[in-house]
Amino acid sequence: MPKTQYTTHLGMVDILPDESPKWRALEAIIHEEATKFDFEEIRTPILEQTELIKRGVGQLTDIVTKEIFAFTKGDSNYVLRPELTAPVVRSFVQHTLAQRGGVQKLYYIGPMFRAERPQKGRQRQFHQFGLELIGTDNPLADVECITFMMRIYQRIGIKNFTLKLNSVGDPESREGYKDVLRKYLQPHFDQLSELSQKRLEKNPMRILDSKEPEDQEFIKNAPMISDHLNEESKQHFESVKSYLDMRGIEYVIDPLLVRGMDYYTKTAFELTSSDLGSQDALAGGGRYDLLVEEIGGQPTPAVGFAAGMERLFIACEELGIELTEPKSLDLYIVSLGENARNWAIQNIHQFRETGVSASMDYQARSMKAQMKEANRENARFTLIVGDNELETGKLVLRNMLESEEQLLSFEEVFSYLNE
Ligand code: AMP
Repeated sequence: MPKTQYTTHLGMVDILPDESPKWRALEAIIHEEATKFDFEEIRTPILEQTELIKRGVGQLTDIVTKEIFAFTKGDSNYVLRPELTAPVVRSFVQHTLAQRGGVQKLYYIGPMFRAERPQKGRQRQFHQFGLELIGTDNPLADVECITFMMRIYQRIGIKNFTLKLNSVGDPESREGYKDVLRKYLQPHFDQLSELSQKRLEKNPMRILDSKEPEDQEFIKNAPMISDHLNEESKQHFESVKSYLDMRGIEYVIDPLLVRGMDYYTKTAFELTSSDLGSQDALAGGGRYDLLVEEIGGQPTPAVGFAAGMERLFIACEELGIELTEPKSLDLYIVSLGENARNWAIQNIHQFRETGVSASMDYQARSMKAQMKEANRENARFTLIVGDNELETGKLVLRNMLESEEQLLSFEEVFSYLNE
């Protein structure tokens, strides 16, 4: 192991040159599919105001109580964004995007930060792609959102997943249900985890999402929100299910699914995969009809999801799915001597300008060393140029796969490679 003085922080990883092609391939798929769905990309800053995240995601959530990276500089409180729904909604309100008319269909790709305990599939800097459809409470939007999410995995070939679905109800249903839940949990107060004790009064539904072992028995037997939905929430949930059926998207109802953020109303969903280990969630999302108002905008219903990109790659690895072709180069110019090197410097761009990827030696190395590099770069062709070739005007073009060579003029090489 080489001695390095500085390393990445715990849970933060470099995406190295061998790995970046698969990231670009995935990003290309996301952009392409989003365009087909008529979604527009939004990019927001990495740093947001801490208050926005506390308010948006929820004061008593794990993210806010344990996981945010936050600091103060001057008069401002900065937080490294742990998710993008609250920031996208902030942007929607700040720039009055509603005035553009219609439903805002915004997707994003980027890094998020959470101070979690790192393990396989869980990092402190990780990447998500996601979607927010802001401006309609129609269940079709929920289903369009789920369809886009599923489409990405389907296109890549990840199949062993389960779509879990629940409704966490509208505000009225939730208030009623919270009372029922408090009444059920109160007699067990002393046995609950410390965090759940704190949550019981203000936010008992958060307890259903608790990972603490001492809470599990009570969660298992808790009354279910599905039995406490009002007529409107029930109707909405039924429509989501029937549209999913219409689209042939399979799901299972999970009455305990409440998700880790406070902003959800009505639909909540999560996509899990049996190809992942204990961190088995590929993606999750839901409806958040109150968040825009919470953040200072006009009441505006919305729905969205976020998907973990590292976890998608883990699933690909488990399934032997390659997202990229092996690296290849069209042309490597092997230059022997100073004149040939100068020739290469002058001419290499003409290849690149016509779309031929081309590389050359920078260090005046031997022919053997240059051929070795051409092989390492997986070059389809090498062009061998020395004093002799420059004098005669005939260059050696070697097809590396077939081990065949031909003598061609520069113009002939050029048109041959551009065929
Ligand atoms: P969430 O924003 O918590 O709903 O998470 C959405 C998705 O992001 C999850 O289903 C995971 O795939 C991914 N994710 C969340 N937290 C992490 C993390 N710490 N490391 C890697 N992926 C994560």
